[in-house]
Amino acid sequence: MNDTVVITGGSRGIGRAAVKAFAAAGYRVAVIYKNAEKQAEELAEELKAGGTDSEIYRCDVSSYSETGLVCKKILERFGRADILVNNAGISQIKLFTDITEQDWDDMFAVNMKGTFNFCSWLIPHMISRKSGNIINISSMWGVEGASCEVHYSASKAAVIGFTKALAKELGPSGINVNCVAPGFIDTDMNKELGGEAAKMFIDEVPLQRAGSVEDIANVIVFLASKGAKYITGQVINVNGGIV
Ligand code: NDP
Repeated sequence: MNDTVVITGGSRGIGRAAVKAFAAAGYRVAVIYKNAEKQAEELAEELKAGGTDSEIYRCDVSSYSETGLVCKKILERFGRADILVNNAGISQIKLFTDITEQDWDDMFAVNMKGTFNFCSWLIPHMISRKSGNIINISSMWGVEGASCEVHYSASKAAVIGFTKALAKELGPSGINVNCVAPGFIDTDMNKELGGEAAKMFIDEVPLQRAGSVEDIANVIVFLASKGAKYITGQVINVNGGIV
């Protein structure tokens, strides 16, 4: 039976491209979305039409109880979860002095606690099978730090620390844990930035373009593959050379 991959934030952007790339590679796919129901349903139709064994689940990754219920449903439906991609994320551009307590808590609730939640429900299952693969989506700003995105950068740096520590703890159980740190990728998340600011940023990228969602999805699928079995605890930078 083909491996099952669980992808959070699969309704749009990078997560959606990863869902399609895993489906094309023959994996069974469980897609987590929150608000983009229409896009998730369209994706489900597309996956079924292409013959992929798949299911979509609505869930707020920041809720421990909701993620627990969804993980239980996934394990009942697919029998196992071989690969977990913690991709769901939010961002916000604000001066540090304008960041409210609520902004800070929301950022960490989705970007860090969401990753913790899915890991805590699925890792016991992976440990009992002595096999698993976890890919967390950080950001170049988690590596470098971004002005006017202190809370975002801090949450993504936390994901890197989490990944490195978890990789050490889970290696003996046959579980790989890695991070992908994308650069500037053309998705809804960057709409807030505006055309001129985006152009100025892209001018600084050695490869002279924004990344596509497929640029990231391809690396995620590689990290999940047998060819990447000796890679763990790493941060893979996919940013056109800017960092
Ligand atoms: P998008 O804004 O295009 O998509 C975000 C996805 O996350 C959506 O599917 C959304 O679901 C989901 N999501 C957000 N909050 C929640 C939540 N509370 N519970 C469940 N799902 C949630 O973002 P990208 O595709 O650009 O980003 C994907 C990941 O890549 C993020 O972690 C982001 O930080 C990271 N990244 C992105 C970069 C970029 O330049 N785009 C650069 C570096 C890192 P729905 O719409 O259904 O609510």
